[in-house]
Amino acid sequence: MIVDKFYVGEHTPWSALSKGTFRMSSAEQCTRRAGYQFLKYSEDDESAPGYDDFRSVVLEEGNLQEVEVVRRIQEIGLKIWNFGQGQAWTVYKFENQFWRGHPDLFIQVGDDTYGIEIKSTTHTLFEKYANASEEVLPGRYILYDQTLLHDVTFPYMGQIQMYLHSDKAVKQGIEQWLLLVKNRDSGAVMECLIDKDPEYLAAITTRWKNFWVYMLAGRLPNRNFEKTSDQCKYCPFQKRCWGALAELPKKKVELEETEELLRATELWREGKVFEKKAGLRLDWSKLQFENEAINQKANRLSVDGIDIIISDREREGLNTDYVRSLLARLVKEKALTPEEAKECFTVTEYTQMNVKDRQTK
Ligand code: SF4
Repeated sequence: MIVDKFYVGEHTPWSALSKGTFRMSSAEQCTRRAGYQFLKYSEDDESAPGYDDFRSVVLEEGNLQEVEVVRRIQEIGLKIWNFGQGQAWTVYKFENQFWRGHPDLFIQVGDDTYGIEIKSTTHTLFEKYANASEEVLPGRYILYDQTLLHDVTFPYMGQIQMYLHSDKAVKQGIEQWLLLVKNRDSGAVMECLIDKDPEYLAAITTRWKNFWVYMLAGRLPNRNFEKTSDQCKYCPFQKRCWGALAELPKKKVELEETEELLRATELWREGKVFEKKAGLRLDWSKLQFENEAINQKANRLSVDGIDIIISDREREGLNTDYVRSLLARLVKEKALTPEEAKECFTVTEYTQMNVKDRQTK
């Protein structure tokens, strides 16, 4: 098997890969990012002090949250298993893809068995889930529409669909998986009972379809996310991956109207009509345009009546509004001069994409 040939301990605990298999917990990860890891590219800020410690703390914190949820379930006397030592793995095979996962818990309620996935999030991310859910008790939220989990930052749906379609779930007749998202600051919990969604699973396996072919050729898969996405913002290969966008020659290119690009323009137009409810459509079409700009080595593109201009920008900023107001107060109280306050601002470079549709009036 190709994967055996490649595996010489290249994976890291954060890689989408482990011993040549895909990890279910990384199902939603960018395949290009996994490619960087597998082909051993160095990360942008590899030497940042304390980075590995930070990663370990995040992992450990997740375990503590899991223990806390287990305690709550045990308190109400339900039968649960598969936590602590000796946890079972579950497997899903599709064509040449071999996926392995590590479910957090199984639970028995009456005659039915369910899987449980426990996640802990920051308050900010939790609020996004809570806003889409119903608060049935103080601090207890229920999300009834699982499709709302498709369009969130770092979705969990891919991992859960893998579990639901895996060998153990099929054998035990598990048809639903309970997602518990815990606010690590307040302890509030959001629950969503997730059904099998073969279409969602197919979208994930399609994304990973040619991964081993790319690896065999020593090439990187295409980008899965657009530059301003959270996935790219927190990716350790962001500069390496998107650096090319900042170095585009000033040139205009009329693009050939391929099926893929026409789909991108269609998604852009739909996205503009539905605005906030269509974030994924806009993101996907932006990604196509960004990739095409890099392929064509041009900062101005035109396709199907849509003009795209990519430019470099700089902005001055502060980490938080709190720091901004604190500085303003210190200047007002003459504890700082305006020049000293200005030195606290950092200048960040970013890429701006302007898209103009000639078909809209
Ligand atoms: S920067 Fe974005 S597109 Fe590039 S590898 Fe990372 S997540 Fe993927």
